[in-house]
Amino acid sequence: MDPLALLQELVAIPSVNPMGRDVSGPEYFEARLTEYLAGFFEKLGVRYEKVEVLPDRHNIIARFDRPGATSTILLDAHQDTVPVEGMTIPPFQPEIRDGRLYGRGASDVKGGMAAMLAAFARLVKEPPSHAANVIMSCSCDEESTATGATALARMWTDDAANGSFIPTPPSLAIVAEPTDLDIVVAHRGAVRWKIRTTGRACHSSRPQDGVNAIYKMSYVLQALERFAEEVPRMFPEHPLCGPATLSVGRIEGGISVNTVPDECLIEIDRRCIPGEDCSQIVPQVTAFLRERLDIEFEMLPPWLVGATLSDHNNGAWADRLLAHVTDVVGPRKKVGVPYGTNASRIAVTGIPAVVFGPGSIAQAHTKDEWISIDELRHGAEIYYRFCADEREMPNG
Ligand SMILES: [Zn+2]
Repeated sequence: MDPLALLQELVAIPSVNPMGRDVSGPEYFEARLTEYLAGFFEKLGVRYEKVEVLPDRHNIIARFDRPGATSTILLDAHQDTVPVEGMTIPPFQPEIRDGRLYGRGASDVKGGMAAMLAAFARLVKEPPSHAANVIMSCSCDEESTATGATALARMWTDDAANGSFIPTPPSLAIVAEPTDLDIVVAHRGAVRWKIRTTGRACHSSRPQDGVNAIYKMSYVLQALERFAEEVPRMFPEHPLCGPATLSVGRIEGGISVNTVPDECLIEIDRRCIPGEDCSQIVPQVTAFLRERLDIEFEMLPPWLVGATLSDHNNGAWADRLLAHVTDVVGPRKKVGVPYGTNASRIAVTGIPAVVFGPGSIAQAHTKDEWISIDELRHGAEIYYRFCADEREMPNG
């Protein structure tokens, strides 16, 4: 099965994640892509299951099982893409030009998905005698809150006893993201939340009658700026992921210039590094601010609490994968990256996980997203070779 033909079909089916915005339209959400994938697995004649994660938003998961196999490799690629506003190419009409395929999701991560699906189909059609079991997961809602991967991991933890489609933990998870065929063994995790200050509105001609929420927020911001300077020094820098960071990225408040604002909100992005507990981030910032400020502010519940990917248990697997990468495309390396992925949601269950795929993160989310067709084909070949022979896999 040609991964390029597959990728053209995947790009032509919009599956835009609205990323929390209140929008509607045929290009939003994963439903049509999920239907396509159901047809794909149906035609292939494999067992598959659709799992509803959010209303009408599904993970779709298929299995290739070889009797006697001792390792099970989970391949995961997310179905959703980021929005298409501002794109300078037609997002859903895949175009081949100069050895590249252009379109939304080409790199992030329909390219990786096409490569995985092609490898999976090849294993199913001509099962190699030493193949590992392979679970192909196409998860929903990665770009916004990663609920798909969280639901996926529940299948062998919470649901394992109840006839789950994945009753036992996989030996290894390979999560597709555009890594230029390097192997990501560690990454940071993000925590995002809002802080609110409130005041009392009044006409701006008599500001003394009101309480200005924006003035209040200015104290919070100054304290946060000091905190942001300290964050990288609070934890030892991770050798592959760099330092922990904090950034304030948005502010909103006030309704007009002639009204004293009664509310101000800011949005904070805090990146944690392996070894830090992402769930402790908001309490930590709260404590810092309360110690220094005597004004009222409110921490809203975070809408994203990511997890880091640590390289403590995936090294031997990454080396095995790297050997196949080297055979196909020459030397590549194990790396850490600053962005989060589904791998951390899977790794929290104790399973080794790595991130690996064709395409470049530099092209992900861009206005003219593309993927190198050579790299796409190499990715499919490497996924296949890795899964086709379990004899030298580390004992998961
Ligand atoms: Zn992605």
